This record gives sequence, C-alpha cells and structure tokens, in this order.
Amino acid sequence: MTGIDSLRNVLELERRKGYTDKAVIGGLDKYLHKQAGQIRQSLVLSLNEVKTKKLVPQLVSGFDGLNLAESSYGSYGPDERKRWMANVLGWLDKLEGTKGPTRHSEPFALAQDKLREESRDPSLSLRVTTAPAEPRQKQREGLDSPITVIKGITPTVANKFAKLDVRALGDLLYFFPRRYVDYSRRKPISELIEGEEQTIIGTIWQARVATLGNRRGTEAIVGDKTGNIRVVWFNQPYLAKSFRTNARIVISGTVGLFKGHKVFESPEWELLKDKELIHTGRLVPVYPLTQGLYPRQVRKWTKETVDGYLWQLSDFLPPEIKTRSQLLDLPAAIAQIHYPDDLTMAERARGRLSFDELFLLQLGVLARKRDWKEGQPGNAFHIDQEVISRFLQCLPFTLTRAQERVLQEILTDLKQAKAMSRLLQGEVGSGKTIIATLALLIAAANGYQEALMAPTEVLAEQHYTNICGYLSQVGTQEPGSEPGEGIIKCYTGFLSRPLTIALLIGSLSNSEKERLHDKIKQGKVDIIVGTHALIQKEVEFKKLGLAVIDEQHRFGVLQRSALRQKGFNPHVLVMTATPIPRTMALTLYGDLDLSVIDELPPGRQVVKTKCLEPQYREKAYTFLHREVSNGRQAFIICPLIEESEVLEAKAAKTEYERLSREVFPGLKLGLLHGQMPGNEKEEVMRHFRAGELDILVSTSVVEVGIDVPRASVMMVEGAERFGLSQLHQFRGRVGRDKEQGYCLLIPEKLSPEARERLRLMEKVHDGFALAEKDLEIRGPGEFFGTHQSGLPDLKLAKLTDLRSLELVRQEAITLFQSDPNLKKAEHQPLRQQLSRVWAGGAEWS
Ligand code: ADP
Ligand code: MG
Repeated sequence: MTGIDSLRNVLELERRKGYTDKAVIGGLDKYLHKQAGQIRQSLVLSLNEVKTKKLVPQLVSGFDGLNLAESSYGSYGPDERKRWMANVLGWLDKLEGTKGPTRHSEPFALAQDKLREESRDPSLSLRVTTAPAEPRQKQREGLDSPITVIKGITPTVANKFAKLDVRALGDLLYFFPRRYVDYSRRKPISELIEGEEQTIIGTIWQARVATLGNRRGTEAIVGDKTGNIRVVWFNQPYLAKSFRTNARIVISGTVGLFKGHKVFESPEWELLKDKELIHTGRLVPVYPLTQGLYPRQVRKWTKETVDGYLWQLSDFLPPEIKTRSQLLDLPAAIAQIHYPDDLTMAERARGRLSFDELFLLQLGVLARKRDWKEGQPGNAFHIDQEVISRFLQCLPFTLTRAQERVLQEILTDLKQAKAMSRLLQGEVGSGKTIIATLALLIAAANGYQEALMAPTEVLAEQHYTNICGYLSQVGTQEPGSEPGEGIIKCYTGFLSRPLTIALLIGSLSNSEKERLHDKIKQGKVDIIVGTHALIQKEVEFKKLGLAVIDEQHRFGVLQRSALRQKGFNPHVLVMTATPIPRTMALTLYGDLDLSVIDELPPGRQVVKTKCLEPQYREKAYTFLHREVSNGRQAFIICPLIEESEVLEAKAAKTEYERLSREVFPGLKLGLLHGQMPGNEKEEVMRHFRAGELDILVSTSVVEVGIDVPRASVMMVEGAERFGLSQLHQFRGRVGRDKEQGYCLLIPEKLSPEARERLRLMEKVHDGFALAEKDLEIRGPGEFFGTHQSGLPDLKLAKLTDLRSLELVRQEAITLFQSDPNLKKAEHQPLRQQLSRVWAGGAEWS
C-alpha cells in the first residue's frame, strides 16, 4: 500500500544520505507527523494480507509503539538516528515477512530485545506494550468453546462468569473493561513523588514475611540504580515466597510516606519476565467483576484469550466503511480495548466497537422494515368521514391540533394498499387512546377485525372499558345480546351492523378463553382488546386488518411481529408514552414511521413534585389525609423488587396492612399487585375509580395508562429504584382532572446520585427530556429492557450520542441500498454476524 511503501522509500533514502535528515524537504519529523495517520490506515488495510491472523494486533500495536506521529528524529545525534532507523525499518521488514508465502518465525524479536534492554536500564522509557505475546498453540478450540478451556477457569469460576453473561471464549473477548488505571508513568525510584500513581521497575533485594500493624504481610526492598524503596503488602504473607532475591519486579501504585520514608503500600506488582505486562506499567484494565472473581486472575485470562484466540475473529465490516469512518480493524479494536497502548487507542477501540453495535442494530431494523413492507400488499381502507365526525361529535372535548395532525397521518396510511407501520409517541395524558379508537373504528367499518394489545391486564381492562365508554356514547349497547357479560359487548347504531368488542386476557377461565377463540376465528368479534394472551398460538383471526400496540416499549420487536403475523399484512400502530428523541427512535424503531403528539389537552397542570427524605414520611401522610378529606384520592406505590413479583406482592400486602392499621385507620384502602387474579384486580380498580376507595396501595402494575380522574396524590416509596420515565408515568396518573396533582417521592436510601436524579423529577416535566436523561444515566439496557425488547444488547454504544447515531444510520442505509439482502460475497461475514447478534431475545415464544 502506498502509505507504507512511501514510508520505506523515504527512510531508505534517508539512510543512503547518511542520516542527514535531507530525504524530505522540511525534515523527516514533519513528514512523519503529517503522514502517520495515512500510513496507519494503509497498514490496517494491508493487514488483510497477513497470513497469521494472530499477529495482526501485535503488528498494529507494534506500529503504534513506533510513535511516528511524535517522532523527534531531527533532535537526535547520529548514533541515535541510526538506531531509530534500524528500529523502524526492522518493523517494516517484519510486516513484509508476515505477508510472504514463507511464514515468519519471530516477528517481534526486535521489540523483545528492546524490552530486555529496557529492563536492564530503567532510565529508558518503558515500551512494554510492543512486547509480543508468547506464541501459543491454541488454535484448536473455536470461539464457541466454553471458557473452561482456559487453564485456571474451573467450572466454579465459569459459573461466576456466567453471571456476567460470559460463557464462551468469544464472550470473554467481548467482556470489556469498564475503565483503566493509568500505571504507564514510569519513574526512577529517586524521582518518585508522594501521592501520585507511578510505576517503577527494580530488583528485589530482599523479601520476607513481616508483621505490619498487628497482621502478617509481606515486606520487600526494591531498588534500581537510583535508589531503594520499601514495599509492603498487608494481609498477604504468601507473596513473600514468590519474590526471589534478585528477581526483577514491576511495581505500580500510589507512593505514600511512612515515618518520613517513601513506601508503596499494597501496590499492583508483576515479576518481569519476557511477557507483556498486564497488571503494571501500562494502562491496566478494570473489569466489572462479580463476587469471587479477582482482578489479577481475570486480567490473566482475558490476556490469554486475546493472545491465543483473537486471531480467529474475522472482521465483518466492509473495508470502505472502516476507511470512511477511520475505524480500527476488529481484532485490533478488541486487543486495544482490553490492553490499550494509550488512552487514544482505547478510545479508538471503543469507537470501533460501539460503531459495530449500532451498525448491526440498524441493519437488523432495516431488514425487518423491508421484510414487512416488501412484496405483500396491505389492505386499503375506505375512510368514512361520516363515522369519524359522528364519533367526534359525541366526545365531551375537541381534539387538540396535534391529535388532529396525527389522526390525518394515520388515516393517510390506512388508505394505502400498503401496510401501515407507525409509531405514535405522545406524552402521558396527551390522548393517544382516542386516536387509536378512531383507527379501530375505521378498520371495523371496512369489515375487518382489530386487535389492541396492552402490556398489563389492568391496562387492557381499562382500554376495554374506555372504548366501550366511547362506543356507548355513539351507539347503544344491545342488552343481553351475549352471555359472558363483561368480556363481550355489542353496540349498534352507528355502523351498518352491530359492533362487537371483547376482552381477552390470561386470567380468563379456560372455557371463556376457548369460547372467545372460537368467536374470533369465526369473525364474530370485531375489536379484541387484550394482553399477551392475544399472541398465543391458539388465537386465530378471521380477518385481522389493524393491530394496535399500547406502551410499545414494554413489548419486544418480536411480540410486535407476532401480532402482525396474526393477519394478512395488517396495518400496525404502536403507541408509547416513553418518548425518545427522533434519531434515537429511528435507530431503535427504524422499521416504523413516526408520529408525535407534542401537545397536551388544554387546562392540564404540571404535577407538583417533591422528593422527601424518609424521616419526613409522616408529613406526606398528613398531606394525604388532607387531600382525602377534600374528596380526592391517592396512590401509594410500593418499592420495586427486581425479578420477583411474588416478593413484591408480599411486601405490598404487608405495607397495605400496616397503613390500614396504623396510619389511615379511618380511611378506605385498596391493594393492587401483579399476583392477584385478574378479576380481583379489576374489582379493586373499579372500586377505586368509582371513588369507593380513598387510597390505593399498589406495586408498579399501576404504572402505565391507568386513568382515575379524582386522584390527586401519587406517593412513591423506594423512589430511587425506579427509572425517571417510570416515575413520570406514575406522576401522569394524577392531576388528570382540573385540580392540582401532587407527586411525593420517598427514597429508601438517598445516595448523592439518587438525590440528583430525583431532583430532576422536581424540575423537569417534559417526558422527552426525562427519557433522554434516563437513557444517559441507566443506559439503554435497563431503559428498554433490551433483553425483553428483542434488540441486541448495547454494551458500549451510547444512544444519547445522536451525532454518531446519525452517522452510523447513514452508513447502514447506504449499505442496505446497495445490497439489501446482503447477498454479495464480500458481505457474507457481515451477514453472519448480523444473524448472530439478532438471534436472541425471543422471550415470548
Ligand atoms: P395517553 O396518551 O396517556 O394514553 P389518554 O388517551 O389516556 O392519554 O388520555 C388521557 C385523558 O385525556 C383521558 O381522560 C382522555 O379522555 C382525555 N383527553 C384525550 N384527548 C383530549 C382532548 N383533546 N381534550 C381534552 N381531554 C382529552
Ligand atoms: Mg395510554
């Protein structure tokens, strides 16, 4: 490649001219500083020709070790220039050697020599990073092999790793450090400065077990040619045995003072052999560990995996994308994210790997959109303006401008002979349900069936009740038309035929379910409102024309597509009250078109929000009392207990009993939790909505969508356990009437971060802004529950970095347009990676 070749030409010319720095005008340094980036890029491209892939990361880090971008050739004396030149040309020879048909034996002898030399002479700068890995013969096991093939990883240790989702060798390569400790600043002992993190290389003069304080530990005296220093390790007497006199050792840590003398206390250490340093003398990776895994071991294992197996990892990104975005090669990126040469390289590694995450996410999403839209025609609906205007006239309010606009967007879609795929974003209480209801009606008027899926039974029941409520204003309910009152209702009067609506949820009895399934199959029900129960395989529609999904972020992409597949390419509308910025939405839901209701119905007030420290809980109770005596109602939300609805329900029950007995003995309290049978839940909600209960003690099941006009106080216990968006949802449950609403947040433990987060709730009332903050603080995994959502996990990429999101999106779109099915030979690795990443997440099946 040109960059590398011209480098060689220039250097050889310079050598022929007798190291006079006359080879290029302006001097060699100027040339190198300017060209280093180019040269590196050409190197990265030429690495495809390298025969032994294992060497790739070493070649790259070897190049980076030359540090051409900061060369100071011009300032050297003649001997130094010769040595420098030999070094760089030597590296070029090695590179050449790796490509030739004859396999190269010892590519980094030079770097190795250099290390040896340095370890003899501590005054030279430390270039440990160019040291080679020991050649290993590990090629036999593939990256899918369990990590137990690594020596020292016992099944017990593997179980600990499993908790971190690390099972196979490939997982270990992708087990990234959270940060690095910088132990790269190396000093002669005489120049050590107290209080700073530094590294020395020295000789152990003496090491022994010693009593330190009143415990046993290890004490050593380590010296270099500038002086000696005492080093102690508390509680680790066994170390003394590994420290032989005269052995060379690297010590990294903070220098302290003891009785006026400098000392290292329990520093990181590493005996200096011909191996690359991993615990000291460099940027040392800090991994997110679980109990029973120790940093030194884990570093050893990640290093071993990187050295022994990384070569098997092939780069799936097309070269032109890498060049355009100046991305590292995949193996280099993985090597550098674990053991970076410097922070710049760590950052570049992170850049490459997060690019991958977003790129694969985008491609997958685009492919899905193509799959859904391609080929099959959708059902073009006739829009009956009469039905719409009659329905709107019966409402006690008029639509907001935003609702009008969104309704038009949806109607335009429904008219097309192409299936709608639309995401409707709108703040809590912005009035999405009414829009959905209108779409359902239009579909019904066209003779199709409709499904509305909600994440919880309570919410499905509420939608059912609301829609029935709207319909009963326009039509009349046929009395006693159906047995099974409550789950099937029928209205007549405004369509040319009676309109039947049903509720399908998991807690129905089996016979009720079967009866409903039959009716749905025969086309005797028009609108079916339900939960996940809707996507069970027993449910077959006769003619599904429209599927609406509420609170989309609670469902996965797969569940969405499961509902879609219940019909012949039905129109799909998904709604969410957890809005996110546009670019982000396009990335995550790129398969959907976007509509936004960005306006609340008039007269809505901001819910006054206050975070109260636990000791002021009594005040909150007093406040609740006062509101209730003014005819209002209140929610008390119990703390979230991760992963156990059973425990959560139990805790809620205990709290309910305590509150009824000790705090509000004169008031009527209700209890709601996810473990109650559906009809009981419905019963409690009905009582609460009817005003027969003053206070509803509930778990987070009340979170989404519930509408109780007279409720004015939302009190949240253990508030710090919830995400901001979730708290915003809770808060959206109160103040729905004209009256002022209040939200009281009571944290259990108030760390400074939690305080800051909850303070945001007091100040910010915009759901978009809170969602963005939430994403920033908690990361997309927790925010979306990506496991559940069926999206690939994002470990490094930040969805909040909208600029790189947009860049990646453009790259994905370009590639997708040029090769939509990834059929081209050069895209095969990418295609494989794509199916690997998108394989998981089918939790509903
Ligand atoms: P969300 O967008 O959170 O699902 P809903 O559809 O549940 O909101 O609507 C919240 C409340 O606002 C409901 O009580 C509904 O009747 C009412 N509402 C909806 N649209 C309007 C409007 N244009 N003007 C006044 N009230 C409205
Ligand atoms: Mg809603």
